[in-house]
Amino acid sequence: MKVRLDHIGIAVADAAAATAFYRERLGLEVAHVEPVASQQVRAHFIPAGECLLELLEATAPSSPIAKFLDKRGPGLHHVALAVDDIHGALAELKAAGVRLIDETPRPGAEGALVAFLHPSAAQGILVELKQPAVGARAGHTPTVPLFRGPARMAFGDVELISLSDGFFALDGGAMFGVVPRTLWEKKLPPDDRHRIPLGMRPLVVRGEQTVLIDAGCGDKMDAKSAAIYGLDRTYHLTHALADAGLTVEDIDIVVASHLHFDHIGGFTERAADGRLVPRFPKARYLAHAGEWHDATHPHERNRASYLPENFMPLMEAGVLTLVDDGAELAPGIHFRHSGGHTAHHQVVTIASGGRTAVFAADMYPTAAHLPDPWVMGYDLYPVDTLAFKRAFAREAIAGEYLVFFEHDPSMAAGILREQDGRRSVERIL
Ligand SMILES: [Zn+2]
Ligand SMILES: [Zn+2]
Repeated sequence: MKVRLDHIGIAVADAAAATAFYRERLGLEVAHVEPVASQQVRAHFIPAGECLLELLEATAPSSPIAKFLDKRGPGLHHVALAVDDIHGALAELKAAGVRLIDETPRPGAEGALVAFLHPSAAQGILVELKQPAVGARAGHTPTVPLFRGPARMAFGDVELISLSDGFFALDGGAMFGVVPRTLWEKKLPPDDRHRIPLGMRPLVVRGEQTVLIDAGCGDKMDAKSAAIYGLDRTYHLTHALADAGLTVEDIDIVVASHLHFDHIGGFTERAADGRLVPRFPKARYLAHAGEWHDATHPHERNRASYLPENFMPLMEAGVLTLVDDGAELAPGIHFRHSGGHTAHHQVVTIASGGRTAVFAADMYPTAAHLPDPWVMGYDLYPVDTLAFKRAFAREAIAGEYLVFFEHDPSMAAGILREQDGRRSVERIL
């Protein structure tokens, strides 16, 4: 378990006097004030280098802070340590016989998960363990607003519904390839492990048939990987489908842009007897034949992305059909070869009522990838990605395509615009 100091909680009887002391005598300003109604506390956060001081003020006589002040007077209340995997940390401590106040984590401020250790276990100090929200720096608020959805709109004769399978985080440098950090961090600021928050946004197209494009990473990831990827699936595809008025039974066709785990982990699930089975019981699954070949013949550079548990059960169940570049997947819905990210990576085009929408998958993982050379370090053939984007962007701007950004943390879809040689994305969903 790796821990780092997140903040120090200090019980104060007179918040105005305390904040004035820190400001006037020590030059430390309050960054924000947050009421925590459940605890009858008002917290004043003061950044101090990499950590925060949290001044805690009681807002009612029955507040735990009021009781603390009665008994012990103002002073050190707790020390908060950030961990990457709070469930794992609690299990480890419990196994070692450490006395815990919370055996399971509870939601804290700003999307964090928190749990307290008993002071008797930690030299008389109340210790808070905290797993910050994905994209949050230790002791800071999340750097990017996270948009969850679902978001839906009528599009010609069909309806487009952008769903969510939660959020994860990847190394910001790897996400932007050769682009220097000084440029990309202005668009997507990294957390203290250099990761940027990313969404997983499957898309439903509801026409004569109900088509699902990609399905996020699903629930088969082990705890260690989930910690590495900062996985936050507190709200995932099952919730999103329900919020959109859909169930797994409603999906007729499932399409894979490519076979990486963050796109198709949700294609299969573990049945009660432990077997891996297709998650959408009535659906036909469609994937590209060349991508299938590459996924089943991985090499050192792509092996970590192709997990057989996500696609082999589909072939074994006889529900997977392999198709080629340009294949019609459902009426008006086509594969379009992009290559670049993988040799056979596909974007999915949706044409209806004279309009075009494009599910760009890993060609434009986020709206920040708008400039042609902003290409992921993960791409196997980055020059091919560049060539695709150059041609595609011109076409998308002229045709006012609605482009879906599968990994964008804050938006689901937008229209590419160009004015006086400057490109931008107009957010639509
Ligand atoms: Zn990928
Ligand atoms: Zn991806």
